[in-house]
Amino acid sequence: MNFAGKVILITGASSGIGSATALNFAKLGACLSLTGRKLENLNEVAEKCKNASNSGNVPFVVTGDVTNEKDTEKILTETIQKYGKLDILINNAGIIETGTIENTSLDQFDRVMNTNIRSIYHLTMLAVPHLIASKGNIVNVSSVNGIRSFPGVLAYNISKASVDQFTRCTALELAAKGVRVNCVNPGVTVTNLHKRGGMDEETYKKFLEHSKTTHAMGRPGTVDELASAIAFLASDGASFITGASLPVDG
Ligand code: NDP
Repeated sequence: MNFAGKVILITGASSGIGSATALNFAKLGACLSLTGRKLENLNEVAEKCKNASNSGNVPFVVTGDVTNEKDTEKILTETIQKYGKLDILINNAGIIETGTIENTSLDQFDRVMNTNIRSIYHLTMLAVPHLIASKGNIVNVSSVNGIRSFPGVLAYNISKASVDQFTRCTALELAAKGVRVNCVNPGVTVTNLHKRGGMDEETYKKFLEHSKTTHAMGRPGTVDELASAIAFLASDGASFITGASLPVDG
């Protein structure tokens, strides 16, 4: 795979799957635009990308909260100002919150939906004219929860099912215009997602242990395995794949 000269915007690039994806694309020669809310973390990832890149490309860093409309406009506008085009959009930023229909508040529901699907809708809407111009593509980061339901994370399940449906709908709408849209569906992957979502250290350890029984391969996934799958879908090797949900779940 070779992404030399390709401009790739990655949301949630400051951590976990997003930062591994940035590093992988940097190694493959891409020109990166990295976004997230935490400047310090983004700068650290950008430094690693710069050191890993054979082409010496220095990633562009733009901070922003993807649930904030002005920030999202800024992320896209500054990326285009920097590079003059956009080839690939990786909609990766996301959060998880626990709760069932009996105890998920509307505030929680809105927070999860705004971060995990409304933000993707908005950024994609802004990016589409540029992707049509470049005949580019989009990879959305969904979840196995987008394909089937898991107990105790109701809003998350709904938000990720929406990401899969959004992927299929936009793939259909944009296929004739030369733009592909796919998503990856990670199983449990070792990142900070669950702890940031309120899971304490002890419960997280048990959760990872349990994931050995829920994944046929007997282990959770790594961020590098996700980064590889994302790069494949974004590459020319996937030129006849659109509207696909690719489980990366062992
Ligand atoms: P992390 O918590 O490590 O990363 C989440 C990223 O999203 C961070 O870079 C964070 O950046 C960013 N983010 C969150 N909220 C916002 C916001 N409002 N505005 C801008 N950026 C935001 O988790 P993962 O790497 O695990 O998660 C990446 C994606 O993978 C998510 O969509 C998640 O649902 C999905 N996924 C993860 C699984 C797992 O087991 N880890 C399994 C299935 C799917 P910052 O804090 O700097 O804003």
